[in-house]
Amino acid sequence: MPFLRVALDVPLTRLFDYEAAAATVADVGKRVVVPFGSRRLVGLVMEVAEQPADPGMTIKPAEAVREDLPPVSPEVLGLLRFCADYYQYPLGQVVHTALPVRFREPGELQLTRPCAYEARDAVALQASLPKRAAMQQRLADLLARPCTEVEIRAISPAAWKLCRDWLASGEVISRPIPLQAPAPSHGPVLNQEQQAAVTAIAGCSGFQAFLLNGITGSGKTEVYLHAIAATLAAGKQALVLVPEINLTPQLQARFQLRFPGAEIVSLHSGVADGERARGWVQAARGDAHIVLGTRLSVFTPLPRLGLVVVDEEHDGSFKQQDGLRYSARDVAVYRARQAGIPIVLGSATPSLETWHNASSGRYTLLRLCERAVAGAQPPRWTLLPTRRQPLQDGLHARTLAAIAERLARGEQSLIFLNRRGYAPVMHCSECGWLAACNRCSARLTVHLREHRLRCHHCGWEERFPPVCPGCGNSDMKPLGQGTQRLEATLAEHFPKARILRIDRDSMRLKGSFESALETIHAGEADILVGTQMLAKGHDFPALTLVAVVGADSGLYSADFRASERLYAQLAQVAGRAGRADKPGEVLLQTDFPEHPLYQALQDDDYAAFAETELAERRQAGFPPFLHQAILRAEADTLTEAITFLRQALAQAPDDAAVTVWDPVAANMVRLASRERAQLLVQSTARSRLSAFLAQWLAGLRQLRAGKVRWALDVDPLDI
Ligand code: ADP
Ligand code: ZN
Ligand code: ZN
Repeated sequence: MPFLRVALDVPLTRLFDYEAAAATVADVGKRVVVPFGSRRLVGLVMEVAEQPADPGMTIKPAEAVREDLPPVSPEVLGLLRFCADYYQYPLGQVVHTALPVRFREPGELQLTRPCAYEARDAVALQASLPKRAAMQQRLADLLARPCTEVEIRAISPAAWKLCRDWLASGEVISRPIPLQAPAPSHGPVLNQEQQAAVTAIAGCSGFQAFLLNGITGSGKTEVYLHAIAATLAAGKQALVLVPEINLTPQLQARFQLRFPGAEIVSLHSGVADGERARGWVQAARGDAHIVLGTRLSVFTPLPRLGLVVVDEEHDGSFKQQDGLRYSARDVAVYRARQAGIPIVLGSATPSLETWHNASSGRYTLLRLCERAVAGAQPPRWTLLPTRRQPLQDGLHARTLAAIAERLARGEQSLIFLNRRGYAPVMHCSECGWLAACNRCSARLTVHLREHRLRCHHCGWEERFPPVCPGCGNSDMKPLGQGTQRLEATLAEHFPKARILRIDRDSMRLKGSFESALETIHAGEADILVGTQMLAKGHDFPALTLVAVVGADSGLYSADFRASERLYAQLAQVAGRAGRADKPGEVLLQTDFPEHPLYQALQDDDYAAFAETELAERRQAGFPPFLHQAILRAEADTLTEAITFLRQALAQAPDDAAVTVWDPVAANMVRLASRERAQLLVQSTARSRLSAFLAQWLAGLRQLRAGKVRWALDVDPLDI
């Protein structure tokens, strides 16, 4: 009697055995409905075995093995096992993190299989339509070649309905998605650097990791598109990972335009559950040519995977910060290695981990040093010293003059301040009282228009106190500057200008970011005020000035990754200026114009910055020269959290290659009424650290944690 070994979404590291009389190895990777206690759960068959793992247990029969989906491939099952081991997270929970939530429904799933559509006789169809029926004509033109439902829907929902009518009447025929995508449309002729990069990637057989380091606007995306074209031409599939905020309809449209007729599946947080399940199945059946998605798509089964691309590989959003704390970039590299295929990590400002891998020869470095559009120049930087300078509402006279010039010329300016709200704190000048969050170790941010104080960490909000709770003074003032205040200041200086603020507050509603981007593209905004939301990957041809204020706070942070992040952020926001034929200018207001980070930015010399940083990290003993894991604990009181970590520490296995530090309070101790502490573990030997963690965690899971919640974070980004 065979047994199914099943991964269930429960916080236990083991698999669960169920009897299934008719089971064979072909059931591995299928969904299975099983009884679990008093519940009915859907799990995934990980193995089929002749013997139960624990013969002493009573084993129940499985209810049903579902045949509605293609089984998860051994390759992806291997990837999930790797994640469970590497991140020390229960396998069943890894599996369920990776699969679309729809798959947890016990019933049979009905997922329609996509087709390619084409006119039976395109010329006759076009001729039969009234000349002025624009939508019908467009649809008929599109149907002259095999096309996808997505492309048809992109014309309009009515076009899709019409196509189905034509299908019913026989004017249009449908057929299975071809293995090989139709030929791509033409892009620009590549320059020498781009061509060399494409040749290297497309010419590689077997696993190879490439770092594509190109300044903003150097045409990295063009390199991806050409490499993907070669992949598709070979009948293979491509997986493209991008940060959440970069996955805009514009990017999807750019891909669809280049690959007409290709099935492109987009997966991100905005995709509804059903849609996500359908996209997953499409990819798993080999019906999708390209998967374009955010970090979660790294787990999508792709039977003919030929290329992986990770765009903006340094971006922090590739790391999940709760549950399975994986880095999609690192998992992608592992996946490419297992599959024996090339992976391209692209960035203007690579993470120092990746940079180090490239300079030590593990990854192949490909560089793009010039802007791709003929004549386009990288922006000119000017550092504006603000020490002992009279500023007007936080703005330098040169900044104001530069904005005025842009207004006169009808060009756009972007003022970058990475702090939303009106002011970072409310202050009483009589007694020094500062408005703080009761639930967090943090100040409350002033939101003037709503007359509210808000905590940006836990979401707490309250009305402005009528008088100072410290001394009764009624004249309290917002201290410092946020984007709302900057917006108000600019409105005073430039009353005629159309000012558009872009941050998480102003872009709260669904679709508002999209429409803001449209406003900018249509030239209906003169001055943009924004946080890093605006910094990423958007092309604004009329934007010729970027002014940066308030950047200095990132220079001297306790976090050793802060300067790496600051460089990336500023390079990215500077890259928004002067994309087309107009040269861009960047003004950075700073108290520290001589700082090496700013100097390197001014020279557009990321290599110099990276090498200096790496030398410091080597000396100080930081990643990538050693590997870290953090055990985090939170409880009602700091004492409880620390006590738990002390117990954990006492259980740590002895390994001379692994350093275990004493528990300490987290940088931000209180968060949402919970107090937090952490314990750092590090080693120069990755394998020793992994072995240590496996042994340690097995013991920790037996510890009575009481009300303490704890989690392990391997390769943490925030310390
Ligand atoms: P990146 O991804 O590096 O920021 P993109 O690939 O988006 O850069 O390219 C920036 C701009 O340059 C785009 O408008 C793109 O169409 C254009 N471009 C890219 N490569 C070329 C080329 N070889 N010739 C002309 N224009 C190009
Ligand atoms: Zn006071
Ligand atoms: Zn709070």
